[in-house]
Amino acid sequence: MTVSTRPAGLRSIRAGDQSFLKHLNRSAILDLVRRESGLTRAELANRIQVTKVTVGTVVQELLDEGWLTEGELHQGGMGRPGRALHLNESRHVVLGAEIGVLGLRVVACSAPGVILYQQEDLTPTGDVDSTARRLAKLVLNVLQRPELQNRMVLGLGVAVPGPVSHPDNVLLFAPNLGWRNVAVLEVLEPYLKGLPGLRVLDNEANAAAFGEAYLLRERTPEVLAYLSLGSGIGAGLIASSPTPHLLRGAQSFAGEVGHTLVQLGGLYCHCGNRGCVETLLSGWAIRAALSVPDGVSLHQTITARLAEPTVQVTLRRAGEALGMLLTNLHHTLNPSDIVIGGSLTRLPGPLLPVAFEFFADHQHRLFSTSRPVNIEVRTDSLFLPARGAAAQVLSQYIQGAQVSA
Ligand SMILES: [Zn+2]
Repeated sequence: MTVSTRPAGLRSIRAGDQSFLKHLNRSAILDLVRRESGLTRAELANRIQVTKVTVGTVVQELLDEGWLTEGELHQGGMGRPGRALHLNESRHVVLGAEIGVLGLRVVACSAPGVILYQQEDLTPTGDVDSTARRLAKLVLNVLQRPELQNRMVLGLGVAVPGPVSHPDNVLLFAPNLGWRNVAVLEVLEPYLKGLPGLRVLDNEANAAAFGEAYLLRERTPEVLAYLSLGSGIGAGLIASSPTPHLLRGAQSFAGEVGHTLVQLGGLYCHCGNRGCVETLLSGWAIRAALSVPDGVSLHQTITARLAEPTVQVTLRRAGEALGMLLTNLHHTLNPSDIVIGGSLTRLPGPLLPVAFEFFADHQHRLFSTSRPVNIEVRTDSLFLPARGAAAQVLSQYIQGAQVSA
């Protein structure tokens, strides 16, 4: 079975092809209005350096097809006033999902990326087929919500807890699920009952990173790293020029920062090496150090035992490892922004304060004039991977330029 991961109708392109140029203009206009809602036709023509006539034609098509809406009248500088243009919030729905170790999450977003509805199913994830069935059921249930009726479905993005090879969309390995080489989209497809639109599969940290860079920000970060601190540790790395895109590496392993080495001769890691970040900073390492079995809440246990010296030492060590990781990221990738999410961000105690103190002490030693990195902690990160997977679908639609009504 073949699953479409390209916008429907996208075809091969010939040089000098007029319709290709038109698609580029459609794509550029949609992306600019998405990023800067409220631009007028004249402002669009000026920004993307095409004639007002071309912009007028494309904008009219996009209005007719329901991608754009017109708003208030703007009084321009020299020229005639023009109507503000916005992405249509009520025409489309784009779906994102996350297969996590402890459950499934689904979000439904509008074209501007606003979450219209979200739902989770907190049953621990089992084998591939039963998970695909449960996820499809959750997706189709969410689509029945009254607020999502009469919207065109753009597609479904799925985030998974392990590296995904591209472009063949295979989950290579999910250590905490025991899954290897799974074509998740192909297993899922028969249960989706003809759900229209694109399909996207990506690693959860990549998806969350993409969503953070792509959606709802007042400024576009130049280079963003999203750190996912949970049972394992991963990162999604994004460069934003010319449009936000993931840095995947040659074999899709970029961002496996939990297995970067920070301690010579340190503890053994699941991967077989010694001294990985994860041996000090991860849900599994903190559980092992404090003898907290799986199935018992790490958050509740640490809250209850916070005054114990072993707990303090374990959290401080995890914090130092995070500080080292931030410093290494700063010198390897030079991100403008680091967003930190995942369940460990919600732990009480010294983990985050120690990490930030370590980073503050070390980030400017090499270049004393370097700009401080913008660091944001997202304690509300539960739905970020699902939302980011939805953003990846939206981005492919807009970049594909073959948007249709
Ligand atoms: Zn490792």
